[in-house]
Parts: sequence; structure tokens; C-alpha cells
Amino acid sequence: MELNPSEAHKRVALHTLGCRLNFSETGSIAQGFVDRGYEIVELGQPADLVFLNTCTVTDGADSSCRNLIRKARASAPDAKIVVAGCYAQMEAEKIKKMEGVDLILGTSEKYRVFDHLDALAVETDEDVMVRIDKSSEFWGAATTLADSHTRAFLKIQDGCNYICSFCIIPFARGRSRTQPIKDVIAEANKLVSSGFKEVVLTGVNVGEYEASSGEKLSDLCQQLVEIDGLKRLRLSSVEPNTINEELLKVLKNSGKYLDHFHIPLQSGSDSILKNMRRKYDVAKYKEVISMVTSYFPKTAIGADIIAGFPGESEEQFLETFNLLRELPITHFHVFPFSKRQNTTAAKLPDQVSSVDKKRRVRDLIMLGEAKLDAFAHELAGSKTEVLFESQKEGWWEGYTPQFIKVRARSNENLSNQIKHVSLMSWNGSVLDGIIL
Ligand code: SF4
Repeated sequence: MELNPSEAHKRVALHTLGCRLNFSETGSIAQGFVDRGYEIVELGQPADLVFLNTCTVTDGADSSCRNLIRKARASAPDAKIVVAGCYAQMEAEKIKKMEGVDLILGTSEKYRVFDHLDALAVETDEDVMVRIDKSSEFWGAATTLADSHTRAFLKIQDGCNYICSFCIIPFARGRSRTQPIKDVIAEANKLVSSGFKEVVLTGVNVGEYEASSGEKLSDLCQQLVEIDGLKRLRLSSVEPNTINEELLKVLKNSGKYLDHFHIPLQSGSDSILKNMRRKYDVAKYKEVISMVTSYFPKTAIGADIIAGFPGESEEQFLETFNLLRELPITHFHVFPFSKRQNTTAAKLPDQVSSVDKKRRVRDLIMLGEAKLDAFAHELAGSKTEVLFESQKEGWWEGYTPQFIKVRARSNENLSNQIKHVSLMSWNGSVLDGIIL
């Protein structure tokens, strides 16, 4: 690619909030900057441009975005600031009023950032340039060496056709669309040849993957695991109603799928699930968990849970609490219900008080910590494969297949190395291991 002379030797700081999908998209955009001669620097270091890829899943995400914009402005007062992604798509007017933002790009327009930066350099009539057009195009994305050296997120799907009553994501990202299998395989081959050993398939609703040819997620996984250099495969969040035996058989037979699933629950009360417009009930969720553990008996399972959905009584909260205590869920992702603009749930009567929401969140987090603790304690004493990532304070750190952090000492450079490790003890946040 021929460099635009005005772009060469410039420094860009990129920062991502939100889901793994957003991270994979920043990865591809970061590569675009590298290809144009930019140097990538950390946010907080002197930069000519700051690119913020934002999230709007909850109120908390919105306020993190606004804080991030203020932080970026303070750390790089002379830089051009680009605010892109889901929060930009939904709240461009609010962002426009914030000091020092130059360019606001929605969920599709963010991939055209280079064209918009060129236009920004010559167009002077707008104080802040805003481009948030909706589109149904699929923009491929994957982690690149520009932003990571170990675990690669690979985007296979975007958008969502479900209408969960609390969720703003379909408004921000549009309808479901997928990457053709041949393009996913080509991208995965590229990742493997640049040295990545572990790939995480990401999307908004990955289980709804369906290529125009009719091929499903199981077909895609079957072809992916046949790639020689690909050692480890993970799926990001998969809706329970989309998990089936066909998929589990492919993952199990591959020998490459890691012992980790993320299966959103949201509530353990059937009537709340109905009001959330989820596509399963508690019985179905339990059936899916038991099917998953029959194929992967040692798996860790993560779940999203919303505390304090409108109308949630104390009894209904207890149904959720008791269900989570009973099921082999190990990684809890608990969120207080948060009213999202234009969603049905935001207008429902009987909103739960913030005091009750906070207490329910705290109780669930404590239960989650206790369950993760017990699960990690059981791993101590066993042997496993760990993909090491980086070194901190003399310890090499990486993750077990179940996504539990491990640290070990070594004089070797273990970055991006898979090692056989004996897990010795769990100290409450990390497993201490010895390399075998
Ligand atoms: S499945 Fe439901 S919660 Fe998930 S993105 Fe789609 S609408 Fe939102």
C-alpha cells in the first residue's frame, strides 16, 4: 500500500470497550493504521490520533465511554479524537457536545475511518464530523499482531434478529449477518501463519451463524479444526437455544475445543425469561447444560445474569440464585438491569429499586466467587496445557483451557508457548504451576 505522506510517522492510540467482537474489530482497524505507516502507542502516551471503539450495552458502559473520552482528551490535548462503535451509533448527539471530539463514527462507518480522516483534513465546515449511517454490510475482523500476540478473536457474525426486551444491541448493530465459510477459513489460516495458536470465534449471536449456503456453526467449526497449525479453539458467548448435539460432537471429536463455554442465562425464573423474550425456559437451559457437560465433563461454564429486571420479586430472584447454585456454572457475569433507550423493558412498570438491584448483584457475585474458588481448588493437583501470554513480576502468566489464570516461573521466553503444567495450588485469583 502506498503511504499517504501526511499519515507516515504519525502515532495512533487505540482503545476498546465492551465485547470480544469489538476487540476483534479494533484489531483489524489497528492493522489498517499500521499499513498506513502509523505507529501504535498506548492510550496515555503522546499521540496524533486517538481511536476509541465504544460500547453501549449498559448504563455503566455509556459512562465508561464518556470517561474514556475525557481521559483521552486530557492525555493527548493536541490529538484528533475519533469516537466510534456502538455508543457512537446510539448517542452521537451527546458525544458531539463533549469537548475535543473531532469525528464520530457509527458501527459500520468505523471501518471507513481512513476515508473520513482524509475528508476531515480538508472539510472545515463541521465542528464535529458525524457519520452514523446504518448498513447491513458484513465487515470482517480479526485480532492482528498489531494488537495481540497470543489469543486471536475472529469475527464470524454480526448483528442480531432476536428482540430480547432489555437489549439495545440490535438497534446499534442491525440484523444478523455472517461471514462466508471460505472467508473465515482464509482468515483463520492467516492468523495461524502469523503465529496464533488459539482462535476465539466471536459475534453478537454466534449460534445463529448460517452461511448463505445453509451451512451452520457446526459445519464451520468442522472445517476450522482441520487447519493443521490451529491448536486451540474457543467460542465466545453462545445462546442456549442454539447449542445442539451436532455442534458438541464436532467440538468434542476435534480434540481442539477447550473446556470452556459461555451460555447466557439472564434469569432463573420462567416468567422473567418470558418477559425478557428469551428463547428458552429454565428446563431447556438445564437440559442444555447437562448436554454440554455430557460431552465436556470438566468444562467451565460462564453465564450472563441480569439482576433486578422490572417486576423481579424476591422469590424470582431466589429462583435465579438457587438455580445458579445448583448448576455447574463457574464464571458469573452479573449486571444490574439497566434501562436502555427504546427497549421494551425500559418502559415496563415495577422497576426494581437500585438498593435491591445492588444487593442482588452483590449476592450473585459472592455466589459466583465461591463457585469459581471451589472449581479452581479442584483443578489444583492436576496437569494441563497452558498457553502462556506475558511475564509479570517474574512470573509467566497464561490460561488453562477452563480460562483460569495460571502463573509459573521459567527462564525461557514462554510468550505464545503452550506448555504442559502441573497445577499446584490456588491462591484465590491465580493457580501456581510448575512447567513439566
Ligand atoms: S440474543 Fe438477545 S441479548 Fe443477545 S444480542 Fe440478541 S437481542 Fe441482545
